[in-house]
Amino acid sequence: MYAAYAVRHKGRSHCAAYLYGGTMNNYREEAITLMTEHSIKPSYQRIQVLSYLLCNHTHPTADIIYKALSDNIPAISRATVYNTLRLFASKGIVSTFSTDNIEMRYDILTESHGHFVCTKCKKIYNFPYTYQNKYMGLDEFQIEEEEITLRGTCSSCSS
Ligand SMILES: [Zn+2]
Ligand SMILES: [Zn+2]
Repeated sequence: MYAAYAVRHKGRSHCAAYLYGGTMNNYREEAITLMTEHSIKPSYQRIQVLSYLLCNHTHPTADIIYKALSDNIPAISRATVYNTLRLFASKGIVSTFSTDNIEMRYDILTESHGHFVCTKCKKIYNFPYTYQNKYMGLDEFQIEEEEITLRGTCSSCSS
């Protein structure tokens, strides 16, 4: 699953230019398809929010998305962005997690994966992992959610 995703999204870890040019249209169609597949009406503002997430695999908070979009779409409101993200999460289009238990972060990658938080550049990296009986003493427990967060120095910062 992860490998397939990585191939599909190769070279898309960041595309800041999307708001200003043709790049945005590349995501428009994908956003509409994703929403249609999940029975969500693709309104203009929802398309913008989802395109941003498809375009920026940076685990943004709702506030970061709102600020990025409001520069170009003055009509968009903070509440719209929050509600849209909540809708996407409830339909399983995006996954959510928090690295600091304060702000929710949104992730277009919904397959099971871990996060590596660089304490120097603050970037959050995705990495695949495989579940192999790594939890002990939980035989009678049912795991419904799993969050793996590692912290340290990323390869760009340590070189
Ligand atoms: Zn770093
Ligand atoms: Zn992630």
